[in-house]
Amino acid sequence: MKGKMKAIVKKEPKEGAILEEVDIPQIGAKEILVKVLATSICGSDYHIYSWDEWSQSKVSPPNIMGHEFSGEVVEVGSEVKSIKVGDNVSSETHFVCGHCEQCKTGNGHICKNTIILGIDVNGTFAEYVAIPEKSAWINPKNVDPAYLAVQEPLGNAVHTILSGDAVGKSIAVVGCGPIGALGVAVAKSVSPSKLIVIELNTYRINLAKKLGADVVINPLEEDPVKRVLEETNGMGVDVVAEMSGNPTAIRQTTKYIKPGGRISLLGLPTKEVSLDIANDVIFKGITIQGIVGRRLFETWYKSKGLIESGNLNLEPVITHRFPLEKFEEAFELMKKGNSGKIVLYPDANVIDKWK
Ligand code: ZN
Repeated sequence: MKGKMKAIVKKEPKEGAILEEVDIPQIGAKEILVKVLATSICGSDYHIYSWDEWSQSKVSPPNIMGHEFSGEVVEVGSEVKSIKVGDNVSSETHFVCGHCEQCKTGNGHICKNTIILGIDVNGTFAEYVAIPEKSAWINPKNVDPAYLAVQEPLGNAVHTILSGDAVGKSIAVVGCGPIGALGVAVAKSVSPSKLIVIELNTYRINLAKKLGADVVINPLEEDPVKRVLEETNGMGVDVVAEMSGNPTAIRQTTKYIKPGGRISLLGLPTKEVSLDIANDVIFKGITIQGIVGRRLFETWYKSKGLIESGNLNLEPVITHRFPLEKFEEAFELMKKGNSGKIVLYPDANVIDKWK
């Protein structure tokens, strides 16, 4: 398709981004062109926007930002077989090579040759985006495009919470930012015996309560280790989903995990974290798991199933819906921590359609 479109571009290697007119992407033989209906903001987008150390090492401006989205296919490449014009799609945002050892052994989520949408190639904060056919995910129709857009971060939460036994277990979710909030929703959907959230921001504490947390612990006001043990008859929790990346919070998880329990780490600490491996890991016989991305495409099937089950309460997680043009306001909200998931719409009429 020829023509121009509006897009949020990380134009310069400094803080901020600009909305500008750019060319609509041209697709290759194995790609599809998608008209973006909804695109949600990820923590990594915020990092790129604020141009922190991590993003300086990952992103080479100019690049169109964004990767979480859903939209309608408007054009398909000459060799595309599984997707047709009019389909509603999202995409696995880690474009993997398909031929390395990890990919060939069902571990594509840790492919060494991963290309990331919105980081290594132009992203979804735009009216149109080009996606490889093999990475696209066909959505059901007549589902709120915002829910479909958040499937990708939802997948991170699903991967974290459900990468081991979780049904009927006591679960602690540490950090109730956008992904943590999705984690709380996922944990709630598998009927935990007790759902504990550890969070210090007032807005996020209220969000955790709205999502059905049984106990919310503010680590600024009380000792999370003491309180979690009190709440679990001195046994500790079966499962911890660590979404904060805070070194102190990570260390504390090993103190209140039940012997034999599982700690799944998704939140990224910015420095090394020291743990008492002998007493808190080995002698307790616990499992510590690193969680990255989504399993391809196992996690996507699980996420889709949870959305279709009706047991996943996503509405409280999506706290703000803005036209694409209001991205600066959106990033300002994220900076303050006063949001769950924020969804941007290249066509603002879509917001009203799903109210
Ligand atoms: Zn690979």
